Amino acid sequence: MASGDRRRLAVLGSTGSIGTSTLDVVERLGGRDRFEIAAVTGNGNIPLLAEQARQVGAELAVTADEHRYGELKEALAGSGIDVAAGRSGLIEAAEREADWVMAAIVGNAGLAPTLAAARRGADIALANKECLVSAGSLFLEAVRKGGGRLLPVDSEHNAIFQVLENDQRHAVERIVLTASGGPFRTKSLEEMRHVTADIARAHPNWSMGLKISIDSASMFNKALEMIEARHLFGLRPDQIEVIVHPQSVIHSMVGYTDGSVLAQLGCPDMRTAIGYALSYPKRCDLPVERLDFAKLARLDFEPPDEVRFPALRLARWAMEAGGVQGAVLNGSKETALEAFIKGRIGFLAMADIVEKVMDQLADLPAATTMDDVFAADEKARQTAAGLIK
Ligand code: NDP
Repeated sequence: MASGDRRRLAVLGSTGSIGTSTLDVVERLGGRDRFEIAAVTGNGNIPLLAEQARQVGAELAVTADEHRYGELKEALAGSGIDVAAGRSGLIEAAEREADWVMAAIVGNAGLAPTLAAARRGADIALANKECLVSAGSLFLEAVRKGGGRLLPVDSEHNAIFQVLENDQRHAVERIVLTASGGPFRTKSLEEMRHVTADIARAHPNWSMGLKISIDSASMFNKALEMIEARHLFGLRPDQIEVIVHPQSVIHSMVGYTDGSVLAQLGCPDMRTAIGYALSYPKRCDLPVERLDFAKLARLDFEPPDEVRFPALRLARWAMEAGGVQGAVLNGSKETALEAFIKGRIGFLAMADIVEKVMDQLADLPAATTMDDVFAADEKARQTAAGLIK
């Protein structure tokens, strides 16, 4: 696929937090000398998308927002860069020849394009956890049939991927996902009741997009990661543990049957996980901050509190139930999150709504096709919206 030693990449969601870090890593690892960028995509941030496309010499730039097509076209006039928009544009970006695709669109909107890239056999660097949460085994099957590799970028899953000994998978007893605990780790339910999106988005350790930052505060992000890990590593729900680790230095761990626990550590910087996925199976040189153990002095751990953070309990429920419950949890969560960001519901109402929707849709049949997944997602959104109005 790649011409000579150069690799062809596509970055879906290039204007976001993961997307910009990805382009930064690409630049640091050789930029145009080593990589051709087949496509970059964004949504509303047209100036940044156009600037990125010119800077990296992308062949195609896509905005997910059809109404912004003209604006993007104008911003790229004379550049020779192809321009597209909307759902079909995103699919076109995913289907452009590229051997490595960063899946960093936020939310379920990332599912269809990531699936398109997986089906044609690209290696998928998966930041968009929603693909696995909603479509689970169907998504994995598409990757397997396509023949590409699935390279986890979520820092926890990337950590596990780094320390999982492939020939010892039978000896994996458990995985331990670390969680920073977010900005409300020590807050009472009463204190959380009245927080706004601006307060909830202020993550203590990681710099991330708006939605994942708020999901970290409610621990819905960890809930999604539990379901993601179950599919990614083929584990039973009871093999997935969560431990609160406020320093975010241990990114996750694998426990083996001989009692050994292997962990991956590093400063909280997504470029390490992105660089690992880009250079896998080799390691690359990245100028990220190094851990200073003497300065760090201590690592703390505490059990998660499922009463203050019911998202964790809901994730266990979704994992045990199987079927489309992952899609239902995610679809209703995305609807509740939008409503919280707009100030229509309170912070704690998000989990209440997800729980009610999961309860109401508990009998939805398991998905046999991707259309079933999209239908379950839509049903969950409608049901959640009905509870919010
Ligand atoms: P951001 O919100 O920063 O960026 C999201 C990207 O998706 C942007 O390019 C945005 O475009 C685009 N986008 C937004 N809405 C749509 C839509 N409806 N259709 C298509 N594209 C859209 O998110 P993050 O980078 O933080 O997260 C991206 C994914 O990676 C998420 O799934 C998240 O859970 C996951 N992840 C993120 C981590 C992080 O550190 N940020 C860590 C681990 C996983 P525009 O900018 O133009 O709006």
